[in-house]
Amino acid sequence: MRANTWAGRNKVEVRDVPDPKILNGRDVIVRITSTAICGSDLHLVDGYVPTMQDGDVLGHEFMGEVVEVGPDVAPDWLHVGDRVVVPFPISCGACAACSAELYSCCENSNPNAGIAEKMFGHPLAGIFGYSHLTGGFAGGQAQYARVPFADVGPLKIESDLTDEQVLFLSDILPTGYMGAEMCDIQPSDVVAVWGAGPVGQFAMDSARVLGAARVIAIDKEPYRLQMAEQAGHIPVNFDEVDVRSRLLELTGGRGPDKCIDAVGLEATHGSAHVAAYDRIKQAVRSETERPHALRQAIMSCRSGGVVSVVGVYGGLLDKFPAGAWMNRSLTLRTGQCHVQRYMKPLLERIERGEIDPTRIITHTLPLDEAPHGYEIFKNKQENCEKVVLKP
Ligand code: NAD
Ligand code: ZN
Ligand code: ZN
Repeated sequence: MRANTWAGRNKVEVRDVPDPKILNGRDVIVRITSTAICGSDLHLVDGYVPTMQDGDVLGHEFMGEVVEVGPDVAPDWLHVGDRVVVPFPISCGACAACSAELYSCCENSNPNAGIAEKMFGHPLAGIFGYSHLTGGFAGGQAQYARVPFADVGPLKIESDLTDEQVLFLSDILPTGYMGAEMCDIQPSDVVAVWGAGPVGQFAMDSARVLGAARVIAIDKEPYRLQMAEQAGHIPVNFDEVDVRSRLLELTGGRGPDKCIDAVGLEATHGSAHVAAYDRIKQAVRSETERPHALRQAIMSCRSGGVVSVVGVYGGLLDKFPAGAWMNRSLTLRTGQCHVQRYMKPLLERIERGEIDPTRIITHTLPLDEAPHGYEIFKNKQENCEKVVLKP
């Protein structure tokens, strides 16, 4: 089959690779109809995650048709021909974490858990297409994928919604939603979102759906801010104004009630990535890697507010503003998204027309053009917000 693979730092390549096979009784094989490129893929491609190997199949946002079902998948659960969206965390459904609906912390899904333990001092769950640190599972930017624990993860789509309407249930819609949900939004709340990428856009829409009075979008890309503005959010360009001052201005001097970091490792600062690569190998994060979206969020949030972090971080974080966090009684919440928790309720919101996930799609390309998709998404060319690939 054809698959988009990692070919060294800052390089992806579509190659012929072996078709996936059922390896475990609870696996299914999915023929992929749509898959997407995510900001998290940029961390991998840029070398932020040092456990990528040449030829690793990328991609953790995908959906398609079940073409083969393992013998231990319950017969009333999935069948050949079913249309499914696959959540990015691989979760067993039975461990203590899964039982508590902390699916992205599954204790049984990463056969390489020792690598993360050694690098970060804590284990990580399995994730599709996310390097050997998270299990070495082949990803979904491909024609087919093996989906483990198929009786836990995939969501069957039985209505006639298009791929574009449901694909993002695999990751970024639940992630943006979880970012907003962790804020415990009250009707008078002003919510500020750092990052107007795909995750940030869905955090903004979710904040509104959850009742926020006003939502502020912070980024530096004019076209991304414009996209947020068109959806009814208030744009703030951090290249043009001092973010904290502008936020105080917009909130009567108190700061936003809730702040969401949808930036993380700063996928856009390419040179910092390369310079940081060797240090990251030792799992050390320093000031020069500039986690400034998070720092700004903590420094801007009003007393007693919530800072919700869905941007991805790894390893250690230096220069954390512990003083502002402590003295202003802030609550800090975070996590890789527990996607399985949100798929059904968000599908219902899509069906009711409360959220339109298609609004962020700017590019639809054949799988073979994945390298171009990565290029324009990473470098913010052609006003690219979200690329959907068609294998
Ligand atoms: P993206 O790279 O398209 O978007 C990031 C945006 O942040 C860009 O538009 C960039 O211009 C902006 N930005 C950079 N520095 C900023 C700053 N200091 N202040 C404000 N904005 C800034 O990526 P995306 O797909 O939207 O993903 C965003 C983040 O969410 C990434 O870190 C990604 O890994 C993470 N993510 C987390 C989860 C999860 O489960 N928690 C899931 C998916 C993605
Ligand atoms: Zn993603
Ligand atoms: Zn589990």
